[in-house]
Amino acid sequence: MDLAAFQRRVTPELGDEYRLFRAPGRVNLIGEHTDYNDGFVLPAAIDRDVLMAVRPHGGRTVTLVSLDFEGVSTFSLDEIGYDPAQPWSNYLRGVCFVLEEAGFHLRGADVIFGGDVPIGSGLSSSAALEVATATAFLSLAEYDVPGEEIARLCQRAENEFVGTRCGIMDQFISALGEADRALLIDCRTLAHRSIPVPPGVKLVVGDTGVRRGLVSSEYNTRRGQCEEGVAILQTVLPGITALRDVTPEQLATHKALLPEMVYRRCRHVVTEDARVLQAVGAMEAGDLLTLGRLLNASHESLRDDYEVSCRELDTMVEIARRQPGVYGARMTGAGFGGCTISLVAAEHADAFVAAVAPAYEAAVNLTPAIYVCAASAGAREEEIGDGESGAA
Ligand code: ADP
Ligand code: MG
Repeated sequence: MDLAAFQRRVTPELGDEYRLFRAPGRVNLIGEHTDYNDGFVLPAAIDRDVLMAVRPHGGRTVTLVSLDFEGVSTFSLDEIGYDPAQPWSNYLRGVCFVLEEAGFHLRGADVIFGGDVPIGSGLSSSAALEVATATAFLSLAEYDVPGEEIARLCQRAENEFVGTRCGIMDQFISALGEADRALLIDCRTLAHRSIPVPPGVKLVVGDTGVRRGLVSSEYNTRRGQCEEGVAILQTVLPGITALRDVTPEQLATHKALLPEMVYRRCRHVVTEDARVLQAVGAMEAGDLLTLGRLLNASHESLRDDYEVSCRELDTMVEIARRQPGVYGARMTGAGFGGCTISLVAAEHADAFVAAVAPAYEAAVNLTPAIYVCAASAGAREEEIGDGESGAA
C-alpha cells in the first residue's frame, strides 16, 4: 500500500513518535494441495500489503484503529480476550496473545493500520495482518526474531486464537518474501529456498468472484483420499509416510492396487510435487515458456485428477491463455472458486486486464477483480518519511 495514500487517510498526520511496518499478501505460483501431503509449495509475496503505524508508550494497553473496518478496539497485554464485536481485532489480539504466551514481554502501543490486500480473496490478507502485527510488536520491544519463528507464532495465533485452520505457507512467505523472488518451501521440514522470478513478467491474479461452501467438505474428502492412498501404497512401499515420498513412476507401477478415484487424487499430488521442482529449475534457468507450461499442467491436473476446479475457474483460465504475452495460467488456492494466476509478460499486463475482465463477465455473468502483482519483499520496517518523498 502506498505510504502517501495511507498518510492521507490518517488524521491527524503521523508524527515521528510512530514507527511504520508493512507485511504483504501472497500468491502461490504452483504446488496446490501438496502442503498437507508433506510436499512442496512455491509462493511469492506480492506488492499488496498491510501498513501499520505503531506508537509505543510506557503502559500495557494496546489501542487498535482500523482504517478499513469501523471502530476502535482496546485491550491490555496482561489480559488479552477475544473481541466478538470487532472480529478484525482478533488477528492482532491473537498475535499479541501468542507472543506474550511464548515469553516475549511486549510494549503497549497505539496502532493505526490499513491495507490493500483484497480481503477474503485468497491473497491472505489475514497473514499480512498477523505478520505485520508480530513484526511491529517484536520490534517495539527490541526482540530480533527470525522470520521462520514469526511465521510459526502467527500461524498459531490464527489457528488457536482466531480459530481458523490454516497451514504455514501464508505467514511464511509474508515474513520471508524477497523482491523479484519466490520461496520454495518443503512443507515436511519447512526448509526453504529463495528462487528468482525471471524478469519481465507479472503475476496476474484474477478473482472469479465465486465462493462455494463446498470448499471445506471437499477439502476434507481429498485429504482422506490422500491418506487412503498412502495406507494402500504402504503395503508395497513400507518406507513412505506421505505422498511426498512417492514418485510418479512408483504410483504408476502400483496403480492396480488403488481405487480409480484415489489413484487420480494421488496422481495429482505426486505429479504436482514434481512440477514444483521442475518450476524451480525453469525459474533458475530463466525459462518462462517451461514455467508457463507447468502452470497449465497444474491446472489440468487440479481440474481432471483432483477435481477441485469449477466452471468459472476453467473459463477464466481459458480466456487468460488466449491473451497475448501469457506464458501460462491456472487456478490457485483450494479451488471451487477463488482466484486464478496467470504469468503475463509485463508489457502485456494492462491489455490482459482490459481483455480478460469483459470476456469473463460476458461468459459467466460475474464481474472479476484482476490484480497485476509483482513478487515483492516480505515484512519490514519503513521510514515514516519515505512515502512523502516518494509521492513528491
Ligand atoms: P484472506 O483470504 O484475505 O486471508 P481471511 O478470511 O482469512 O481472508 O481473512 C480476512 C480477515 O482478516 C478480515 O475479515 C479481517 O478480519 C482481517 N483483515 C484483513 N485485512 C485487514 C485490514 N486491512 N484491516 C482490518 N482487518 C483486516
Ligand atoms: Mg486468510
